[in-house]
Amino acid sequence: DSSKTKLPFQAEVAQLLHLVTHALYSNKEIFLRELISNASDACDKLRFEALDHPELYEGQSDLDVRLSFDKAARTITITDKGIGLSRQEAIDNLGTIAKSGTKDFMSKLSGDQKADAQLIGQFGVGFYSGFIVADRITVESRRAGLPADQGVRWASGGAGDFEVADITRAERGTSITLHLREDADEYLNAWKLKQIVGKYSDHISLPILMEKEEWKDGENDQPGDMVKTGEWETVNKANALWSRPKKDITPEQYEEFYKSISHDYEAPLAWSHNRVEGSTEYTQLLYIPAKAPFDLWNRDKSAGVKLYVKRVFIMDDADALMPSYLRFVKGVIDSADLPLNVSRELLQESRDVKAIREGSTKRVLGMLEDLAKKQKTAPESGEGKIDVGSGESVPAPDPTEGVTDVVDKNAPTAAETAAASADESGKYARFYAEFGAVLKEGLGEDFANRDRIAKLLRYASTTTDSVSVSFADYKARMKEGQDAIYYITADTLAAAKNSPQLEVFKKKGIEVLLMTDRVDEWALNYLNEFDGTPLQSVAKGAVDLGKLQDEAEKKAAEEAAESFKPMLEKLKEALKDKAEDVRVTTRLVDSPACLVVQDGGMSTQLARMLKQAGQ
Ligand code: ADP
Ligand code: MG
Repeated sequence: DSSKTKLPFQAEVAQLLHLVTHALYSNKEIFLRELISNASDACDKLRFEALDHPELYEGQSDLDVRLSFDKAARTITITDKGIGLSRQEAIDNLGTIAKSGTKDFMSKLSGDQKADAQLIGQFGVGFYSGFIVADRITVESRRAGLPADQGVRWASGGAGDFEVADITRAERGTSITLHLREDADEYLNAWKLKQIVGKYSDHISLPILMEKEEWKDGENDQPGDMVKTGEWETVNKANALWSRPKKDITPEQYEEFYKSISHDYEAPLAWSHNRVEGSTEYTQLLYIPAKAPFDLWNRDKSAGVKLYVKRVFIMDDADALMPSYLRFVKGVIDSADLPLNVSRELLQESRDVKAIREGSTKRVLGMLEDLAKKQKTAPESGEGKIDVGSGESVPAPDPTEGVTDVVDKNAPTAAETAAASADESGKYARFYAEFGAVLKEGLGEDFANRDRIAKLLRYASTTTDSVSVSFADYKARMKEGQDAIYYITADTLAAAKNSPQLEVFKKKGIEVLLMTDRVDEWALNYLNEFDGTPLQSVAKGAVDLGKLQDEAEKKAAEEAAESFKPMLEKLKEALKDKAEDVRVTTRLVDSPACLVVQDGGMSTQLARMLKQAGQ
């Protein structure tokens, strides 16, 4: 037929497909999660477009996803009544990689199959994961609103190309048929499919239906078999997890839900599920991952937090829902108040969305404060069993952990208590090792919460190599007469520790915070003091040790300055293009000289960073 066209996959797709079919053996069953989530997305998109154009429902607004299999033909079919695909959309969306995130992913591929397979798991390869179990995929679809004769059939064997043809299709939406590989027989089984749906897709707010089967005895002593009854039953809970009362949700369900929205293999570190009441009412279910994704430093990547209005997906616009320094947070926010039928642009500007963003930011900071409170100090830095932070005693185990401060006042279930008894004491350190550097961006980004963020920061110091010292810890250990928090920035811990600028501090036994993250220098520009005590870089200006310096030392310094005057003049002259000033210092003990930066000047560290960035 003349409408049939053969087209090559975009090069990146071909590469991805090769990887999918060769490297993803360990976690085959995720294909179903991906295809069901696409079906669900398609229904969300239809609902969203239908807000302004109800005729797109074509008189049928009850949406569902149907899952069926044919043992004889060795196929699995997933059918939705969603938005569907036009011919051009099928070519564009199934033949090329349109998402910038996927391109990013492709650029990270190492060629090492094992590592790459892990990456895929973290990322999700969506539609193409069908090729893990299928050697041919057929997609039949008609876009909502198009006439029946503008349907499309897309088919591919997952190698270099795909075919598209025009078809007539009465039903709106999409059917995806997987022609299973030889080794994928296990999926031709209702029990197995139900099990996978239960594991990954229970929270999908759409009913997932399978045809009921019943046992039929064989005739003439032949073994019997399961036969289809023509009746469909719902096999998922079809209940958005976040909208269920928390007493009905097990920790395992919270974790599975997290994995399904984050593509993370690992369980999250913590979560918080709340109904927020007040002028803007919404439900929030927010997670803190245990591991940073590979694209953590890509500030433009799509957000981890999705906004729903009454379970209809609205947007996952990163900046509108979470500040960038909390971009590691995953989760769902569902509001009953927001208007559904306004543009996303207007929504982002709405007071309600701003209130939600603020509320969610505070919630995440609260979760982090909670973890920090439960964090034990590293054994090397003392008794090993002291709680850092506010000094309050921490009841262990806390039965409400994971669902902190939920407004509905149900008692914790047995399962919650069991999960909470898992060791909490190392979580903040784990969190901080993964995301601490991102959190620091908050000093410059979120002035309203700057004090709370500052309290969450941890550093190594001259008394401990472990990144565990808070400003509050430091203050509690300050010497009598010390009136500043001293810190030094450097590329590495070794460089920081061996800096000549530390000599006088070592001699006097004054602790100095050692800062080695690239972001530190920039972030500290926004933090001049902590709890009334100024922060002072030991590499800037003439370090004034104030009352820590005794009279004799001061006098000796003044005399030295006087007697070295002629020499300083000569040095100044000799270095006039290179140094702003040359002066006698009390900060050195063993080294003859060191470079310092003027107060308020750019530090050597920052200057180097800018130079590297080509500025
Ligand atoms: P993602 O879902 O992250 O966009 P996928 O690889 O899973 O990436 O899907 C690629 C695209 O194919 C989707 O964005 C969508 O446009 C289209 N698509 C996939 N499945 C369906 C479906 N069931 N109905 C409509 N469009 C679909
Ligand atoms: Mg998808």
